Amino acid sequence: MDKNLQEEFTQIIKFKPPLHKQRHQFVKDLVEKYKPKKVADLGCADCSLLWMLKFCSCIEVLAGLDICADVMKEKMHTLSPLPVDYLQPSERSLTVTLHHGSVAHKDPCMLGFDLVTCIELIEHLEESELRKFPEVVFGFMAPSIVVISTPNSEFNPLLPGVMLYRHPDHKFEWNQAQFQSWALETARCYDYSVEFTGVGHPPTGMEKVGFCTQIGVFVRKYPQTGESVQSEKPTAAVHKTVFKAVYPSLKDEKYLQNAVIGEVIFTAQIIKHRLMSKREEYGDDPERKSKFQPSVNCFSDYLGKLVVEKNMEPFFSGNEVYVPLATIFSFPKVNRLCGTFEKLCKLIAGKVPLSSDSSAVIFNIEHENEEN
Ligand code: SAH
Repeated sequence: MDKNLQEEFTQIIKFKPPLHKQRHQFVKDLVEKYKPKKVADLGCADCSLLWMLKFCSCIEVLAGLDICADVMKEKMHTLSPLPVDYLQPSERSLTVTLHHGSVAHKDPCMLGFDLVTCIELIEHLEESELRKFPEVVFGFMAPSIVVISTPNSEFNPLLPGVMLYRHPDHKFEWNQAQFQSWALETARCYDYSVEFTGVGHPPTGMEKVGFCTQIGVFVRKYPQTGESVQSEKPTAAVHKTVFKAVYPSLKDEKYLQNAVIGEVIFTAQIIKHRLMSKREEYGDDPERKSKFQPSVNCFSDYLGKLVVEKNMEPFFSGNEVYVPLATIFSFPKVNRLCGTFEKLCKLIAGKVPLSSDSSAVIFNIEHENEEN
């Protein structure tokens, strides 16, 4: 490369967003495209990619592996559920686990993943580890997709201050031909296809140099059924689990029950308030009683096409307001949470004050009347 041209570029090459963010965004886009449920990040370092992936709603199992426990532990707390996760449990389940160990070793905890990411990992591997890596990832783990990124050494002359390698821990850096021949041979051996791409565009006029980070996306050509394959691969555990977080989920009956109780009371309160304000508006004249039955008008936005029967209407009885469960069940959020009316009844039984026939939520409004 022309020395002057090179110098000119080394002054101006600055990736926006920074390259590491572009690499992680690339993985996120891949997740959004393929919607894997189980994702393992090998060489996860400070867990920043895992942190980003925990927000992808398709993912139910996330695992990280790194040979350096200290670097993983530094920020692993960011993978723990937050108070808001307990206040509003998600509909999906999510388990995040971190393992301490090497990608050169097989461990049963690394089985069953749909997507395996190896971002800027392979160039950190010793020769002997790199030799074992394909058998562990493509032979043993055998996920449907593997994404591998690594520096493209052809880009190095354009980067300011890079003498031999981009990082002192790199054991090698490959040019495009070297990476592609290793990737094609690996794909051939383990029956995968591979496509090459990258992040960090070269300057205009220097396209031949290729991306700053080269990426191979491997897709398994043969189908695989999880459990049969796992049982065929007995192997002793060698990795150590250093972190595990199980996120609260509505799939867990305990969280679902809390959410349903909260939503039922909230919905019943809305209905009760509307009923009471109608009564205030029309007074307590029995002849005009029908006017403060909230019925369809009040809830038309919620009830949609639902046919509201007479027994779904809330009513007063002395100091009590009765809000039929059937009405509450017709509200979309309650309906979605419970699925069936029977499930709603089961989840709230004994937790919410109900009429003697269990068909309505009861509120005592004696004190509310006093305040008014
Ligand atoms: N994937 C990270 C950066 C990785 S840096 C990111 O996207 O930002 C390389 C990581 O690989 C380091 O954390 C290093 O500790 C880890 N590593 C090196 N050799 C390893 C091995 N044999 N097995 C597992 N992890 C390894």
